[in-house]
Amino acid sequence: MSGQEPLAGLVAALLADDGSKTWPGAVPGRLGSVLGTMPAPARAGVRAAAAAVDAYAVVRTGRRLRGLAPHARETVLASLASRRSLLPVLDAVKVPVMLAAGTERMIHEEPAPPPVSAPQDPPLDCVPSAEWPDRSTADAVVVGSGAGGAVAARTLARAGMRVLVLEEGRRHTTAEFGRRTPLDRFGELYRDGGGTVALGNPPVVLPVGRAVGGTTVVNSGTCYRTPDHVLTRWRDEFGLGLADADSFGECLDEVERTLQVATAPLDVLGRNARTALLGAERLGWQAAPLRRNATGCKGSCQCVVGCPTGAKQSVQLSVLPDACAAGARIVTGAYVQRLLVEKDRPGGPRACGVLVRRPDGSELEILSPLVVVAAGALHSPPLLRRSGLGGHPRLGRNLAIHPAASVAGRFQEPVTAWRGVLQSVGVEELHSDGILIEATAGPPGMGSFVLPGVGRALRRELDGAESLATLGAMIADLPSGRVLGARRTLLRYDLARRDGERLMRAVEAMGRILFAAGAQEVLTGIPAAPKAYSQDELRETLRGLSAGQLHLSAFHPTGTVALGADPQTAPADTEGRLRGVQGVLIADGSALPSCPEVNPQLTIMATALAVSEAAASVAQRA
Ligand SMILES: Cc1cc2nc3c(=O)[nH]c(=O)nc-3n(C[C@H](O)[C@H](O)[C@H](O)COP(=O)(O)OP(=O)(O)OC[C@H]3O[C@@H](n4cnc5c(N)ncnc54)[C@H](O)[C@@H]3O)c2cc1C
Repeated sequence: MSGQEPLAGLVAALLADDGSKTWPGAVPGRLGSVLGTMPAPARAGVRAAAAAVDAYAVVRTGRRLRGLAPHARETVLASLASRRSLLPVLDAVKVPVMLAAGTERMIHEEPAPPPVSAPQDPPLDCVPSAEWPDRSTADAVVVGSGAGGAVAARTLARAGMRVLVLEEGRRHTTAEFGRRTPLDRFGELYRDGGGTVALGNPPVVLPVGRAVGGTTVVNSGTCYRTPDHVLTRWRDEFGLGLADADSFGECLDEVERTLQVATAPLDVLGRNARTALLGAERLGWQAAPLRRNATGCKGSCQCVVGCPTGAKQSVQLSVLPDACAAGARIVTGAYVQRLLVEKDRPGGPRACGVLVRRPDGSELEILSPLVVVAAGALHSPPLLRRSGLGGHPRLGRNLAIHPAASVAGRFQEPVTAWRGVLQSVGVEELHSDGILIEATAGPPGMGSFVLPGVGRALRRELDGAESLATLGAMIADLPSGRVLGARRTLLRYDLARRDGERLMRAVEAMGRILFAAGAQEVLTGIPAAPKAYSQDELRETLRGLSAGQLHLSAFHPTGTVALGADPQTAPADTEGRLRGVQGVLIADGSALPSCPEVNPQLTIMATALAVSEAAASVAQRA
């Protein structure tokens, strides 16, 4: 049986392809490329599901899905979808299919967007690892060029140190973003094609970036300052002096200046934003356009696949050029296998550099007395374990992810949510209860919201996607997750009961906003109960469901090498130094002691600034 045949059959069935339009026929090919970027288990899972559905069709009808008439395919799929236990499986398979379908539909049916003249990106001193010598030295190496790594590199370089940034991904330019389809960029900019999943009930999709600029290249550009109550907790409960409101406030100010943070103007926000504002206003709820690092944003709604106009000031356009101007250099395609550690020194073990693998498998070594670990909260713990530095019992634990659920509302008039700012409005009414709602859309098929149904029902949803407005809500979670593994990252996340309840409240609250704005129906994102036609019905429906039935995603992993005063509970000390070894600084999302309760990039950058300033002043005194 050819591997493509069952996939093509499943796609034809899911999209009710009756041959009347050309784009569904192109979806299997596109899906093949999507799967090609995903990790082998995810790929195998989708193919196995397709093969199982195909085999089921043979048992029921004597023919394979692809050979069936459209109505017969529909019957086979409807029979599977009627079994509640299979709904989550079908839903999981739909995610990559929708990615491919959204792209093909857009290419074939939407007018091509006007060409954008991409500005020249500011210069970076990037050298591919293939061209970097096998042995070299630096005053500091920074592993990872994302939010935290970029700021640490700039701070240390400005302090006069010879800094090398080592980044596994490659450099992508704004001009490239303008030339390629969103889906082509998606597969390349995200680690494992965006298919990172934390296992648990429910499983949570947890995508992270891999590129010069890290996850900031693909983030939505929302800029929240760390809330005061979070800083107070970090100072009082975790003994973090750096969380003092005044000094941390200065770090946040500095980061905001660099990223040119400002409130997005109303005229570019788009209808998705205006719908959220209207609904909140009618409820008397607190809501406003979000502050963002994208002055000059044209509302192309593609932040999560690399901004094609260069408006979003992700760190490869803002912080890293400053770092390079101060002398830092970036080695790309440089996977840090492990830190080099001198174990038998009189003062205790000390990091002395890193061992790096090039894409062709060859290795290079960089000697350096300071190693800044900024591989992101999901990848710093495995790196430390690979280096023999994973001994602290809390390393890899304490993972908070700020889990998110999405809801959509159908309106009489077109909303065309993918024209405008991708993440545009914040509804803060329930923030004191740990629920932050943001109007968030995405290129078709690429948002976190999964359209309900299969076959003709799904096709109707896809064809009517213009009239949907979408909201997402994140909840401040307990650190219920864990990063396992050394060679590869493995994730476990067990949603706490309290957080499950918060998520259900969040879904209901999003429904209220949409109904208040005039939605005719609300799509819950829950396969077992996909629609409600009134707020009362939504409330009633949700009462019978649990958060385990939600389709969850998360974008903000933190806390896995947390800073803190207590050596028993915090793997790193209050100035970011990894305990048990000298010369290792933690400067990424893993450093945060708990969920920051808002989109975290400013908090991560301000923390990286604080710890790297402290390290630079120690180095200058030495
Ligand atoms: C879709 C999406 C939307 C988001 N939107 C927002 C938003 O609007 N606002 C906000 O505040 N936050 C947002 N975030 C989150 C925010 O971007 C991240 O929290 C932040 O970038 C994390 O910073 P970091 O330094 O911890 O890691 P990253 O920025 O993830 O950087 C880590 C880097 O390390 C590299 N690396 C890993 N391992 C190695 C290794 N062994 N060797 C070499 N390099 C390695 C990776 O390739 C990566 O480039 C979003 C995230 C996602 C996924």
